[in-house]
Amino acid sequence: MKETFRKLSETMGPSGAEGEVRRVLEEELRGRVDRLETDALGNLYAIREPGGPGGLTVMLDAHTDEIGLVVTYIEEEGFLRVAPIGGVSPQVALGQRVRFAGGAEGSVAADYLEEIKDLELSHLLVDIGASSRSEAAARVQVGEAGVFVRPVAEAGEHRLIAKAADDRAGCAVLVETLKALDGSPHRVVAVFAVQEEVGLRGARTAAFRVQPDLAVAVDVTPTGDTPKAPKRAVELGKGPAVKAMDRSVIAHPAVRRLLTETAREAGIPYQVEVLTAGGTDAGPIHTSRNGVPTGAVSIPCRHLHTPAEMVDLRDMEGAKELLLAVLRRPVLL
Ligand SMILES: [Zn+2]
Repeated sequence: MKETFRKLSETMGPSGAEGEVRRVLEEELRGRVDRLETDALGNLYAIREPGGPGGLTVMLDAHTDEIGLVVTYIEEEGFLRVAPIGGVSPQVALGQRVRFAGGAEGSVAADYLEEIKDLELSHLLVDIGASSRSEAAARVQVGEAGVFVRPVAEAGEHRLIAKAADDRAGCAVLVETLKALDGSPHRVVAVFAVQEEVGLRGARTAAFRVQPDLAVAVDVTPTGDTPKAPKRAVELGKGPAVKAMDRSVIAHPAVRRLLTETAREAGIPYQVEVLTAGGTDAGPIHTSRNGVPTGAVSIPCRHLHTPAEMVDLRDMEGAKELLLAVLRRPVLL
């Protein structure tokens, strides 16, 4: 799990440019599933056919994209102006190193600012070391996306700090689940979906294609376990969280029950998540076609939407064990 997560998290994949992440996933999964497919948007489908007839089509989902910055303008002096892709705040971006799709790297700085509290994205510039517009334009284009540069670090025995735990933690859980799944009475389609951070877009198309009977999205969720955090029942290291609701979905009661009962029977510690801001791919999935019973398993994550997100391997292992236990059940709904 740790190595899969490391590889995935260190790969670059801003929304709309998830190709590298998809290639890493294909490498990991080739020969481990019956079929790998892609679609026009870049979603990846890893498909395991059932052991026998009569099962359901179960869609698992994790998103491949991560937050980043996009070049909006190149100044005469060679500096880049940028806009956010997904939820990037200027306070988080300032002082980071960013790498663009074409390979150019730069520092995110603010070129005029009296008070740090006044910092806005419009103050930011990215310095790629170019001394003129033409020199910069030879290395990076307007419209090119970039992500923060940050290798994965270990923090104690169980915890990892990473730039894109959101949602490479979910991707790693799905990869390890598929690798460990010896057989299932159900058709399992793991979707690695694009463009979640900019509006849950890839999952919408994916759900239409897969036509699932039941779906489970796997994404990270913020914790409430730092001293002055808003009261939230989710803590790091206390197990995967079964979603009750967020702004995009109210988990289907049958799927929520399936997840919590399975966790209890299998002795997997779990938590219950209510997220009052933000949505997940479970949103567009559950309203696709005639409606899909959908739930979500969330990986607790501290310092969300920073280049130093923290996850706990025990929560990821727990999520994998929970999905495996669900997929082995003959009756799901
Ligand atoms: Zn996410």
